[in-house]
Amino acid sequence: MAKKPTNVSERKVNVSTKVTSNKATTKLSNGVFVYTGAISIAELAKSLDILPSEIIKYFFMKGKLLNINSLLDDEMIGTICLENGFDFQKKEVVDAENFENLQIKDDPNDLTYRPPVVTIMGHVDHGKTTLIDAIRNSNLVDKEVGGISQSIGAYQAEINNKKITFIDTPGHEAFTAMRSRGASVTDIVILVVAADDGVMPQTVEAIDHAKAAGVPIIVAINKIDKPGADVNKVKNDLLAHDVVLEDYGGDVIAVEISAKQKINIDKLLETVILVAEMSQLKANPNRYAMGIVLEAELDKQEGPKATLLVQNGTLKTSDYLVAGTCYGKVRRMTNEFNKILNTALPATPVSVIGLSEVPQAGDHFMAFSSEKEAREIALRRKQIKESKEKKMTSAATLEDLFNMKKEGEIQNINIVLKADSTGSAEAVKASLEKINVPNVKINVIRASSGAITESDVLLASASHAIIYGFNVRPDAKTRAKALEEKVEIRLQRIIYALLEEIEAAAKGLLKPTYVEKIIGQAEIRQLFKVSKLGTIAGCMVVDGTIKANSPIRLLREGVVIYEGKIASLRRGKDQAKEVRSGFECGILIENYNDIKELDIIEQYEMVEEKA
Ligand code: GDP
Repeated sequence: MAKKPTNVSERKVNVSTKVTSNKATTKLSNGVFVYTGAISIAELAKSLDILPSEIIKYFFMKGKLLNINSLLDDEMIGTICLENGFDFQKKEVVDAENFENLQIKDDPNDLTYRPPVVTIMGHVDHGKTTLIDAIRNSNLVDKEVGGISQSIGAYQAEINNKKITFIDTPGHEAFTAMRSRGASVTDIVILVVAADDGVMPQTVEAIDHAKAAGVPIIVAINKIDKPGADVNKVKNDLLAHDVVLEDYGGDVIAVEISAKQKINIDKLLETVILVAEMSQLKANPNRYAMGIVLEAELDKQEGPKATLLVQNGTLKTSDYLVAGTCYGKVRRMTNEFNKILNTALPATPVSVIGLSEVPQAGDHFMAFSSEKEAREIALRRKQIKESKEKKMTSAATLEDLFNMKKEGEIQNINIVLKADSTGSAEAVKASLEKINVPNVKINVIRASSGAITESDVLLASASHAIIYGFNVRPDAKTRAKALEEKVEIRLQRIIYALLEEIEAAAKGLLKPTYVEKIIGQAEIRQLFKVSKLGTIAGCMVVDGTIKANSPIRLLREGVVIYEGKIASLRRGKDQAKEVRSGFECGILIENYNDIKELDIIEQYEMVEEKA
C-alpha cells in the first residue's frame, strides 16, 4: 500500500474552539431526538414526552434493572427513541479542556499505520537493560549519528524499514505510574524471561500488569547462550501463569534470544511488527497532535523541557501546546539524537522546549493553532483540576462503588487479592468470580499468596482496584503507600464474610460495618525464655502504639499465625499501659509461646464504618 503523503499544513483541529460545559444537552426537533451524551431516564422521558416508568419497564422486560436516575448509553437511548417512533442523532461536542477523554473518530481514509510503542518488562537481572542496549546499538533509525545522544525517555528502532518506539525505562514501575494517571502509552509488552532462571516474582507481576492493561505480550526467552538454559521450563512456567504460547495452542509468541550475544534480536523486532500489524495500530497524521508527557524537567538554561509521545496527529514547531495545565509554544523540538525536528508523526517521542511550566509525566497534551486558545484552555484546566483536587478523596473504595451502584451506573469491581496460601487465593478468587449481580463485573486482577506489598498497592492504584487481604496484612510501609496512593485495603478472615461484603457492595446494599483499624505494630527483636511465664518477646514498636488491653495477632512474613491477647506489656521493669512507636518493650502473649525473631505483633481495634 502506497503511503499517503502527510500534508501537515492541512491539519485538522481536534475540537471546537469554544470552551463548553460538561453537561449533556438534548433537543427534540422534527421527530429527531438530538443529544450530546449520556442522559438519565428522567431526562429522556421528559424530552420524548413519555413516562419514565415506560422506559424502566422496557428495560426490565429485557432483564435490566434501572431506576429513574439511571444513565442511559447511546444504544439504550437509540432503542427507546426507535421504540417510540423518533429518529435520533448524537451530536459530537467535545470539551476542549477535557481532551484526555476525547473520542477521536477519524475518517478511515485518513488513517495510516503507526509504529507500535513497546515497554520491556521482566524480573531483575533477566536482561532487560542488555536487551535495550542491543536494540539501541544495532537497530538505530538514524544510522549516521552513531548513537543516542540524549535520554528523552523513549527512542525509536527500525527493522525492515519499519519503526518501533521503545519506552526507555524497563520494568513495570513506569508503566504502572503512567496507567494510574490514566495514560495508556504501551501497545505491546516484551516480557523478558531468563532461560536459566525461569518465571520469577517480577515476571508474574509484569504479566499481571500487561493483562490488567489489556496489552499483548511477546515473550523474549533470554540467555539461551547459557549452559543452564531451559527453554521448555520457561514455557511451562508461563503456562502455569496463564500465558499460553503458540506451541501450546495459545496466541502468545515467544522468541528465543540472547541479548548479550545479540542472537535473534531482529527476529524479536520482526515479531513486534507482526503483533503490531495484527493490532492494526493506526493514527491520522493530518490533524493537530495529541499524546502523553513521558518525562519533564526544569532545564537550567532552557526552562521547562518535556518529552512528549505523539499518539495521534503531527506535532510541528510553532504549534501551541497545552500539556496538563501548562501551555506554551513549541520553540524547539529534538529527537533522541539531539537532532532538531520540524515535525513529529504519530508514535514519535520528542523533547520539546517552550512550555510555561513543567508538566507532570503522564499528563495528556494537545496542540492548538492559536496561543489565545491554548492559554484559555490551560487556565480552565487548572481551575478544574484545583476544584477536583479539593473534592477528591480516594481512587476506589467500596463506598464509592456502593454510591455508584445507587446511581445505577454499570461498573467493574477490580480486586487485588492476597491470601495466606496459593490454595486459598485460588479458592477465594473462584468464589468471587461466581458472584452474579446484574450490571456488575468482578475482576480479580491478581490472586496470590503472601503479605500485601507495595507492588500490590501500585497495581491496585493503576487499575482502580481494592485490595483484599485474606488472613494476610500489609506492613507499615505498604499501608503508608496505600494511604498515599489512596488505595483501599480491606482485611478479612472468613471467606463468606469477604464474599458477602463484596456482593453487598455490588448490589449497592452496603450496610454500616465494623472494620478493624490497625493501631500498632511491634517487631520481635529478641526472645527471653522465662520459666513459669513462657517466652517473652523483646520488641520494638515500629508503628502506632501497642496497648496492654487490645486484641493482638501474630504475623510471620505477613501471614497471621495466631490471634489472642497480651498477658503482660512492660517497658523495662515496669508494667506499661501503652508503648509508642520508636520504643522498646517486652510482650508476653497469653497462652502462646511459639514466637520467633522478626515476627510482628499487631494490634487492632474494631471501629464502626459509616456506609
Ligand atoms: P535487568 O536487571 O533485567 O536489566 O538485567 P541486565 O540487562 O542488567 O542483565 C543482568 C545480567 O545478565 C548482566 O550481567 C548481563 O550481562 C547478563 N545477561 C543479559 N542478557 C544475557 C544473555 O543473553 N546471555 C548471557 N549469558 N547473559 C546475559
